[in-house]
Amino acid sequence: MQQEQLVQAITKLVVEQLKNTGAETACEERIPIGISARHVHLTQEHVDELFGKGYQLTKKKELMGGQFASNELVTLVGTKLRAIENVRILGPCRKASQVEISKTDCIKLGVKAPIRESGKIEGSAPIAIVGPKGVIYLEEGCIVAKRHIHMSTEDAKRFGVTNGQSVKVRFDNDRGGVMEDVIIRVDPTFTLEMHIDTDEANGLGIGKDMGILIK
Ligand SMILES: [Zn+2]
Repeated sequence: MQQEQLVQAITKLVVEQLKNTGAETACEERIPIGISARHVHLTQEHVDELFGKGYQLTKKKELMGGQFASNELVTLVGTKLRAIENVRILGPCRKASQVEISKTDCIKLGVKAPIRESGKIEGSAPIAIVGPKGVIYLEEGCIVAKRHIHMSTEDAKRFGVTNGQSVKVRFDNDRGGVMEDVIIRVDPTFTLEMHIDTDEANGLGIGKDMGILIK
């Protein structure tokens, strides 16, 4: 009888340990979500035109990969002169200016921005940007950012994925759902975070929820 109790106790222990291991594994696969609001990247020349010659963007908040949210805001103007005010500039300056908006913003502005990975702006939508000291007109550069996951080299190894790979991410929140074609971006300076825009977040009711990577 005592032996039976012992077996039961051991079984219970083992089962609980297995449960715990399972929980840990599941936890490791969870990806924090960063919701990107509309924003602008600018060349120094364009900063000069919008804010005055030699103007330097000032840091409001550090972001990953050496980027920062600046204190400077601009107004986006689409066709038919429809505008969105108070759009934040992300620094530091880049080699090409780029405007990232949501599909809802596209409707508001009357701009047909394609879904693109950051930096791939060739043939993207035109847009005008208004600053306190001037206006610039971009022939191309307005995109809807393609959702992606930033991760370090170690994270990529752990998840068994490579840079540029397309994966799916599941959300087990109130609405729930799976996002397909999420691009993996690997860099030693990146911390694990999935970037989606406000439309994608609102569509699935995502707040502080975590995504689960599925290949
Ligand atoms: Zn990102």
